[in-house]
Amino acid sequence: MSLRDAYPGELRLADVGREVRLAGWVAHRRDHGNLIFIDLRDRSGIAQLVVDPSEAPAAHALAGEVRPEYVIAVRGAVVARSAETVNPNLPTGEIEVRVAALDVLNVAKTPPFEIGGAESGEVDETLRLKYRYLDLRRPAMLANMVLRHTVVQAARAYLDEHRFLEIETPVLTRSTPEGARDFLVPARLQPHRFYALPQSPQLFKQILMVAGVDRYYQIARCFRDEDLRADRQPEHTQIDLEVSFMGTDEIRALIEGLCVAMFAAIGEELEAPFPLLTYDEAMLRYGSDKPDVRHGFEVTELSDVFVSSGFQVFRGAVDAGGCVRAICARGAATLPRAQIDALTEVAKANGAKGMAYVYVEEGRALRGPVVKFLTEAEQEAAVARTAAEPGDLIVFVADQAGVAAPVLGALRAELIARLAPAPSRRWAPLWVIDFPLFEIDAETGRLTYGHNPFSLPTPETLPLLETDPLKVYGAQYDLVLNGHELGSGSLRNHRPDIQRAVLRALGFDDARIQSSFGFMLEALEHGAPPHGGIGLGLDRLVMLMAGEDSIRDVIAFPKTASGSDPMTAAPAEVTAAQLRELRLRLG
Ligand code: ASP
Repeated sequence: MSLRDAYPGELRLADVGREVRLAGWVAHRRDHGNLIFIDLRDRSGIAQLVVDPSEAPAAHALAGEVRPEYVIAVRGAVVARSAETVNPNLPTGEIEVRVAALDVLNVAKTPPFEIGGAESGEVDETLRLKYRYLDLRRPAMLANMVLRHTVVQAARAYLDEHRFLEIETPVLTRSTPEGARDFLVPARLQPHRFYALPQSPQLFKQILMVAGVDRYYQIARCFRDEDLRADRQPEHTQIDLEVSFMGTDEIRALIEGLCVAMFAAIGEELEAPFPLLTYDEAMLRYGSDKPDVRHGFEVTELSDVFVSSGFQVFRGAVDAGGCVRAICARGAATLPRAQIDALTEVAKANGAKGMAYVYVEEGRALRGPVVKFLTEAEQEAAVARTAAEPGDLIVFVADQAGVAAPVLGALRAELIARLAPAPSRRWAPLWVIDFPLFEIDAETGRLTYGHNPFSLPTPETLPLLETDPLKVYGAQYDLVLNGHELGSGSLRNHRPDIQRAVLRALGFDDARIQSSFGFMLEALEHGAPPHGGIGLGLDRLVMLMAGEDSIRDVIAFPKTASGSDPMTAAPAEVTAAQLRELRLRLG
């Protein structure tokens, strides 16, 4: 006989009179003189059990011994609570179950933290991860898992409806460059050879297009051995997809439909089509390629105002081919001096030499240390261009555009965080398109790819591939939501000659091209259709939907910032015998 025929969290007034069998965990026990009350919890929620010694003496005796997190099963009758005892905060608050029989199925140690009620932030995260099975019992965490499931099911339904095939690609494979280090797995059967865990299914999904699959998707795990930052995990999940014979407009529309469907599944509305911003425009207006456009605080270009300025800091930057740009922060004149100094530090930490600022006073007069260096016309132009009002603060950055843009982006983010202006709307998705195909690697000073080496150059800039690669743009589209990059996608090089030229531009010689990408190029030579796709970061998407600050709160078993799992103690040492088998020696 099954241990239960109902779920505690689903009982309602309509169930009154029913005899039910329930099973779950003891959330709380309260002894009220004669009566014992137990909150019984499972995935569905909580129901109150009442054990009365005059009705069920044996059950009452056992109930006196149960502790939080014991696993119990009960049989009893659903009854209506009296008016004074109704709990309006509980979905099951109008009923309770009068217990006739109780079984203790398992005992439990005292949990290291409280399961009910406690907020995530109140318990040390390492402890939560060590006892993740207890952490996941907390309703807030369970709700995140349910949300994630709902979103994935909506994605599957949408993609299925649009004729996508869900296909798995290997986890033991060879390197797929996405800009991170590979995780390597030694191949015991072929000593001194290694598999790489995929940084993404990129190569395989493109090959599936060559195979004629036409539309592929996968809820794919991607492995990237990066230095971990707060919002990174060594493995993450992507809604990975690829389609053939579509242009960027059609692909974007398809992905917008997917996003709308996923949000609809959780009762949220996204407006499509999403606005488009070119990379250059995004950098100019927001100083970021993933701007949060729910807040104003846009960057204003003022270089032309200061071409012949007497203020050497501004004039010098323009003379050197750089720029002067400003952000008008609404109402920020109230920021105390210490906060302005902190902003200056942010500017410097991001590479600026400094940050100039002026307060806008009554009558739009300016006040601040640099005002005396500016002519009246320059002051008026700065106020007019930035549409500044009394009470605002204007911050200026003068530098090469490549330096000024990210500095302004960082200042903008900082100002938004400090002033916390109300967002104009809940969800602000947008596309950032036309990225430079290449960039200079800050560490090596060499040319590297911006996204991955498979993006197709735009037709206008393709001829510059050999002569001026930094001016080549890719047919790339990034999906940005509320200031977070949700995914990167592009049209691909379906023509092997272009793919080869891109790899050469990256400095790969023919031998390396052959050894690393030979199989891919060969596939492209067998009739590759034009194709493109995207990988959407599922963890980040669900994090935003759940209103969480950390992706760890929407991943069942995440790793800490140092890449370890406190529960299993991975990564772990291996035995000498294992190393011998693999013919590996530790250095
Ligand atoms: N492979 C890419 C990534 O992981 C996504 C894509 O271009 O489809 O970012």
